[in-house]
Amino acid sequence: MTGAGTGGVLLLVEDDDAIGRLVKSYLEQQDGWNVLWLRTGEEAIAELRRHPVRLVVLDIGLPGIDGFEVCRTLRAHSKVPIVMLTARDEEPDRVAGLELGADDYVSKPFSPRELAARIKAILRRAEHRDPAEVLVSGPIELRRDEHDVTVDGSAVDLTSKEFDLLACFLEHPGIVLSRERLLDLVWGMTYPGGTRTVDVHVAQLRRKLGNPESIRTVRGSGYKLVAA
Ligand code: CA
Repeated sequence: MTGAGTGGVLLLVEDDDAIGRLVKSYLEQQDGWNVLWLRTGEEAIAELRRHPVRLVVLDIGLPGIDGFEVCRTLRAHSKVPIVMLTARDEEPDRVAGLELGADDYVSKPFSPRELAARIKAILRRAEHRDPAEVLVSGPIELRRDEHDVTVDGSAVDLTSKEFDLLACFLEHPGIVLSRERLLDLVWGMTYPGGTRTVDVHVAQLRRKLGNPESIRTVRGSGYKLVAA
């Protein structure tokens, strides 16, 4: 588990250049996020389907559809944590955002540090949810309590280690995991088979999932899960 750690893809939806630049550079340099900055809600909705996004920072006032509409659309098919940026400290805005399923809000003007702290708190909450959760990436769904994996709704038969390995990838979407780290997280010790064991299990997992691209090899580093 990454716990409250940061890193991975964060979607920032903000049309204001100064705020966008400030937030992007702070979160990338201070917290190691890969920030995907978009200026419209339409782009955000399209991009969320293409990347394994871990968190969304969403401005309410946008040039096309507004942040409320984006939040409603994202929530229709995603549980990704959403932090809304409100222009003023207005109660109705906050309530509306939270009712639509946003996890928190930050009122402008805010310091990037304040936003970063809020993001960490949300991740801490989100990632300490009931372990009976459903983990999803693209067409892949894993139900931990039922030990059940489906791809596009069809059941996939995995061994216990393949299941644990897939769960580990789904818990770290878009993050490169080294063979050593995977060995430690999934096998829980220095396994006598060494890192070769990881390669063999990844190969089996790719074959069973029917999409070799879902777990990408990062040369010299390890593997990462990408939303197919
Ligand atoms: Ca705006």
